[in-house]
Amino acid sequence: MIALFGGTFDPVHYGHLRPLLEVKQALALNQVRLIPAFIPPHRDTPGAEVTHRLAMLRLGVAQVPGFVIDERELRRGGRSYSVDTLQSLRDEIGAATPLCLIMGLDAFAGLASWHEWQRLTELAHLVIAQRPGAELPGSGPVAELMATARARHAAELQQQPAGKLWFQEVTQLEISATAIRAERARGGDIRFLVPDSVRQYIETRGLYQHQEG
Ligand code: ATP
Repeated sequence: MIALFGGTFDPVHYGHLRPLLEVKQALALNQVRLIPAFIPPHRDTPGAEVTHRLAMLRLGVAQVPGFVIDERELRRGGRSYSVDTLQSLRDEIGAATPLCLIMGLDAFAGLASWHEWQRLTELAHLVIAQRPGAELPGSGPVAELMATARARHAAELQQQPAGKLWFQEVTQLEISATAIRAERARGGDIRFLVPDSVRQYIETRGLYQHQEG
């Protein structure tokens, strides 16, 4: 089974990488495609240029078996809607192959604001990793989706191409790219929050040295 994991990766950090590896192991995924957004729909313009975000992501996933960077959103340009990305991958793999979209719980909680969000579960399963500080919605359309689509066993994801939700327990790392950028802006040390190769890249190029707007 293959899975997608989209993000701004501004920069990639251990809060992305460790939970992702745990999801990969728990679901015995053959491949995880990390997909950097060109223009993320839900947030401000990224702090670092796309070339830097991509270079850091390459450093972050270097030599991790089964982790692959997929540049389709960068090639496509414009706003990076997950539904378009899923559709293009679905067109490649065919209608019958199971496909998972991995996201953190904070992202899932806001799912109803995503472009054509109801189509997401037509195209893929949603695999949700816990994230510190994020909570499941108690009511509303996302809560309704949980009530109807939640899988009881991970094996259910293999039995149909799309449409199920799976919540995966992962090591809780309270790391965010926002906090990393803020640490850099106040001249702090970001060691142990990101892979050392990524830290060196950030320091060498002087990224994130200025306070965000
Ligand atoms: P920012 O702070 O700039 O908003 P971020 O750290 O949330 O960035 P993104 O690249 O926006 O990182 O996130 C991509 C995906 O990774 C999202 O699905 C998000 O929920 C998930 N994610 C990010 N950090 C963590 C974390 N510490 N634990 C679990 N999931 C995470």
